[in-house]
Amino acid sequence: MTALAERLAARIRSTGPISVADYMAACLLDPAAGYYATRDPFGTAGDFVTAPEISQMFGELLGVALAQAWADQGRPESFVLAELGPGRGTLMADLWRAAGVMPGFRQAARVVLVEASPALRAVQAVALAGLSPAWLDTAVALPEGKLFLVANEFFDALPVRQFVRDTSGWRERVVALAGGRLAFALAPAAPLAALAHRLGDTAPGDIVELCPAGEAVASTVAARIATHGGVAIIVDYGGWRSRGDTLQAVARHAPADPLATPGEVDLTAHVDFEALARAAQAAGALATTLVPQGLFLNRMGIAARAAALGRRLTAAAAASHAAALRRLTDPAEMGNLFRVLGIHPPGAPPPPGLDAPP
Ligand code: SAH
Repeated sequence: MTALAERLAARIRSTGPISVADYMAACLLDPAAGYYATRDPFGTAGDFVTAPEISQMFGELLGVALAQAWADQGRPESFVLAELGPGRGTLMADLWRAAGVMPGFRQAARVVLVEASPALRAVQAVALAGLSPAWLDTAVALPEGKLFLVANEFFDALPVRQFVRDTSGWRERVVALAGGRLAFALAPAAPLAALAHRLGDTAPGDIVELCPAGEAVASTVAARIATHGGVAIIVDYGGWRSRGDTLQAVARHAPADPLATPGEVDLTAHVDFEALARAAQAAGALATTLVPQGLFLNRMGIAARAAALGRRLTAAAAASHAAALRRLTDPAEMGNLFRVLGIHPPGAPPPPGLDAPP
């Protein structure tokens, strides 16, 4: 057992089974043993590769989208440029360079990074030294003011609670002990107001997930945007309305057992974009429809950008550049699994590449 597994087992023996959300939170962000708290997991030598690490084009096109949204809202002379969960800082570095083509944008921006991991903050401080960023532990602390924000693969790292539909109510899926080892179990059935709207589209045995932390972040971001102006562009894998057990563990680019080595493998869950959109609307902002990543990048001009970058490359570099373009946009790769949601204020258009609901 890992040291974190021993500590979780002691906690369960002392106060009973814990929710999947509490388990995820400990695995990812425990200060001594959490996955993100203690390492830089990205890249081919690490556990997984994210879109900004695949190609500079990803961050560049998000930069173009934010800069255009800023121009659409009258080029406010001061705003917060924020990223949630910046990883290695690659996306923000590419975004910043590309947004520089919009006169005045960078001069008006104050860069704020929401990052819980000390190890990754250190990586970001080096990558983004020229931007003089400020760091926040949580999005709920985002300052009042105009907010232009991006988040890639942030919401999938936030802890989810899982509920199994019973005949009349819901049984929470929990982490308990079986024979001294961590094992999934079910808590007694209870009616749940938060899931009342799901009784109609589920049957006994179905699993639905709730991400209270994700809804709280969406609500805060949307409240800033509704009150002061700005936009948010959220990219992640998931869909509209959660269904099924989507908790997954990944280590060295392969699926792993989520309970076997807590703290040593990445844990994620699919993002329920409907819940984020509802939270944004409840906070007074507008949410766009959900657009597949491939379609969004094509609308933002990735083909032209790829051609311009490709002209200077040798044959081998050109082949890997073409592969990166495919990986980001092809529906069989990341193009359809990953989706993009925009948040914008009433009275301003949706961010470029995204659509208002019909
Ligand atoms: N956006 C980056 C990294 C994605 S990984 C990329 O695309 O490459 C998730 C990021 O969110 C990491 O930087 C991780 O440390 C951070 N993170 C995870 N949970 C968090 C939380 N609850 N609060 C703040 N940051 C968190």
